[in-house]
Amino acid sequence: MTLDATDVDLEAHGLFINGAWCAADAARTFTVYEPATGQPLARCAHGSRADVDRAVAAARAAFDDGPWPHTPHYERAQILHEIAQLIEANAPELAELESRDGGVPLRATTFNDIPLGMHMMHVFAELARRSPYEPMPWNDFPTLSWNFVWRNPYGVCAQIIPWNYAFCMTIWKLGPALATGNTIVFKPSSLAPLSAIRLIKLIDESGLLPKGVLNMVTGSGPEVGEYLVGHPRVDKIAFTGSTEVGRKIMAIAAPHIKKVTLELGGKSPSILLPDADLDKAIDGVLFGMFYHAGQLCEAGTRCLVPSAIYDEVVERLVQRTRQLRVGDPLDLATDVGPLISHKQRETVEGYIALGRAEGARLLIGGGRPLGASYAQGSFVEPTIFGEVNNRSRLAQEEIFGPVLALIRYDDVGEAIAMANDTMYGLAASVWSQDIQQAIDVARRIRAGTVGINEHHVLNPYAPFGGFKESGIGREMGVAGMLEYTEPTHIHVDFQQQRDGKLWWDALLPPNEEE
Ligand code: NAD
Repeated sequence: MTLDATDVDLEAHGLFINGAWCAADAARTFTVYEPATGQPLARCAHGSRADVDRAVAAARAAFDDGPWPHTPHYERAQILHEIAQLIEANAPELAELESRDGGVPLRATTFNDIPLGMHMMHVFAELARRSPYEPMPWNDFPTLSWNFVWRNPYGVCAQIIPWNYAFCMTIWKLGPALATGNTIVFKPSSLAPLSAIRLIKLIDESGLLPKGVLNMVTGSGPEVGEYLVGHPRVDKIAFTGSTEVGRKIMAIAAPHIKKVTLELGGKSPSILLPDADLDKAIDGVLFGMFYHAGQLCEAGTRCLVPSAIYDEVVERLVQRTRQLRVGDPLDLATDVGPLISHKQRETVEGYIALGRAEGARLLIGGGRPLGASYAQGSFVEPTIFGEVNNRSRLAQEEIFGPVLALIRYDDVGEAIAMANDTMYGLAASVWSQDIQQAIDVARRIRAGTVGINEHHVLNPYAPFGGFKESGIGREMGVAGMLEYTEPTHIHVDFQQQRDGKLWWDALLPPNEEE
């Protein structure tokens, strides 16, 4: 398939609709760039409204007339296990692709992102084995009946993901929707779509799914994404991205009362308690902050530090941060890669300038790394600001880059209040040697995930999602699976005699013919 004659050397990717790869309706394409080098990496089809219509029609037909929603849950589970095996068999290729496309260091994609995605798919398969029947207690009011809940798939799901953590985001979307018998129109971000496209190609080549069950339309958010979520033949929207776009999507979904789940932004706190084991907590806070160059929704971007140990914490954080190697994501020695784009770097640099203007103390970083190897990529040094005011914009707004704000506190109650003083509520971590005290603090944090002496460890058996403006609904775990099902209560009456149905007499008079 030729998408664009001008970039003959670039790999070209089409749309995936009704089991076939095809060019976009208007033959439009867009270029995907490598964040570390700024060089073109691939070209992808840019879908149009007509393409979305075709993809939705294919998903609709596969749901309304196809076998997928009625395929026994244990057979779907087996298919998901086989998809996980495809990931395992192609892990090195997927890891390298994710590193080149997303700028994520190869060490992270090889040892975390791809194996984690595979593990998550196995867990979704395992959860899919759970019966879609949920028995209820026998009920004898007003007379004996047997009741159960049947879990229906929603139907056609529009699934939209961001550029960060793109491979795992793809798994979080496809896994539970397929496990529960839905059909899908999926849209990755135009900034990093390649690992998702590769996975969909692997699934296609395997022939595991009936045609039309999984469709993909690539293209811009405002054009393809917005039309997709507003499509009247789409039943459910699963969106991961910024809170700003999430608000729009909720408004678009409102006229049709569509089911919406939203996984949005964050400004998560890492709370160091006075007795934290700093040998562990310093590295933990840095892992929570600088992993994926701070481009993770639940990154620990605000670190709350007791005044009594503030100076020691500053010294140790700065000393460890100095050791982080920023560089080529394909080099296994690299710790921190580039940001996704020059635009994202401008945003982050704007926040660094803002931090200075707001009076925070720049402790380390704040600039671009120097050297020819960084010249074309969108690199920013790992940056830490001290003496940040929790009410400042630096502490309140999602930056989505490697910028850590250190905030002092004097007592734990004040730390909890500041941790919760944000419009977000996605995640947090609490660092202490006193587990009971850490649990007490964790329970008072208004966030969907709280790690104790840990940050970022995602457990596919556990629900993940946000309080407040971090989102609606949950992904992963049983809760995440249920977001893709609509319950029907089925009541089986056991009263054999008409005379026994006394409550019908509230309407019907005695039968005069008898
Ligand atoms: P974004 O909101 O700009 O874009 C996300 C996706 O939505 C992309 O595919 C984009 O093309 C699409 N989109 C953009 N405008 C749209 C519109 N009007 N209608 C429909 N779709 C549209 O976010 P981003 O910059 O790609 O990703 C970073 C954001 O994602 C951060 O805010 C981060 O916190 C958030 N995020 C959240 C989670 C989570 O699980 N809570 C996970 C990862 C990222």
